[in-house]
Amino acid sequence: MPDLIMKPKGTNDVLPGESYRWHYIESILRKTAEDFGYREIRFPAFEYTELFVRGVGDTTDVVQKEMFTFTDRGGRSITLRPEGTASVVRSFLENSLYGAGLPVKCYYIVPNFRGEQPQAGRYREFHQFGVEYLGSPCPSADAEVIGIYTVILERLGIKNIRLNINSIGCPKCRPNYHAALKSYFDSRKSELCGTCLGRMEKNPMRILDCKSPVCKKIAADSPVVLDFLCDECREHFENTKAMLDAMDIKYSIDPQIVRGLDYYTKTVFEFVSSDLGAQSTVCGGGRYDGLVETLGGQPTPGLGFASGLERLMMIMDAQGIIIPEPGRCSIFIAALGEKADMPVQKLVHDLRRMGVQAERDTAGRGLKAQMKYADRLGASYSMVIGDNELGEGKAKIKDMSTGGQFECLLTAEDIKKAIM
Ligand code: ATP
Ligand code: MG
Repeated sequence: MPDLIMKPKGTNDVLPGESYRWHYIESILRKTAEDFGYREIRFPAFEYTELFVRGVGDTTDVVQKEMFTFTDRGGRSITLRPEGTASVVRSFLENSLYGAGLPVKCYYIVPNFRGEQPQAGRYREFHQFGVEYLGSPCPSADAEVIGIYTVILERLGIKNIRLNINSIGCPKCRPNYHAALKSYFDSRKSELCGTCLGRMEKNPMRILDCKSPVCKKIAADSPVVLDFLCDECREHFENTKAMLDAMDIKYSIDPQIVRGLDYYTKTVFEFVSSDLGAQSTVCGGGRYDGLVETLGGQPTPGLGFASGLERLMMIMDAQGIIIPEPGRCSIFIAALGEKADMPVQKLVHDLRRMGVQAERDTAGRGLKAQMKYADRLGASYSMVIGDNELGEGKAKIKDMSTGGQFECLLTAEDIKKAIM
């Protein structure tokens, strides 16, 4: 026999017995986004590499270490999507979505691909729910976007999540901060990792996002960005916080958050959970007022967040949140004897057409084995059709939970009426 072929490292199957969990979470994500006025956007699973190099930033971990990149047959560099924001902005510009008026509010649920070392909560293919809000510079947009995620957590029943926020300024105040960071890191140069040494000149803020424990420790004592904000950024941050206060959304200020993208400006935030182990962030986002311009559009403010679905599920499991499993069989119809085979087939088909989850045996089982199968399917009702039932045109329906029985005509309409 040939060898079994296994899935690639860092990927996951969602099996038929667990897909209801995904459907449940996805339906809450969609409903909440739509309640806030966001509509779904879909975009390709791969893009020209240039989009991510420019849109995510060439000093980020994602671009420097994690992209799945290959050359297509025409010789162009292609990358499997590592995140959604760059694609949304690309699509926003390519399709002139701004033409219908701003703001544009959209959400997505997509798989992303990153060549990371797999571990719990960190995969090479993972799923993100994200929202993007394009066209508003106002703190109310920041507060709205953060508010969406708090409602999602509430609707999923997730507790003990902390919201950390920060402001990382804008191109006006950033140079002063960069200079302060650079002189601080210069003094600890010999201890930094190789990647961060390279980041010193181009983007010293990236060092704050480094995962290496040594760099993390050095970063902990670095100058704080909030001390360098210009008046506009300070006012924006104060107003955002006041909005959150007005909405009863609790947060802490964490001056160490810089986020993974290069083009974030002003507000950045993370939702973190102690139920995730090493991967404590379940959702990250912020404002990226420079991104649309970076990707070739007219200056347009924007912001958004992305949350990992696998991490959401890990938290729900850790907190013992039960996701209701939908039934898969309302009625099992057993055929007793050869003559019943055809009528049972038709009844089951008609019931399904009418929206009833009807099942039958298709493995040639005897009656006892058929009833065992009905149990395994979790059938709510069962019915046995043999020569007698066919002769009389009716049969007994058994309520599998109480054992009670009642009679019913052998038509799909009557059966449906009897059990619904
Ligand atoms: P991390 O610090 O955990 O690497 P990140 O800053 O790279 O996260 P983002 O790019 O901001 O993450 O993505 C937002 C969210 O997407 C994360 O908070 C997490 O929930 C999820 N996520 C990111 N990378 C992965 C991954 N490799 N596997 C599973 N989920 C992921
Ligand atoms: Mg990462």
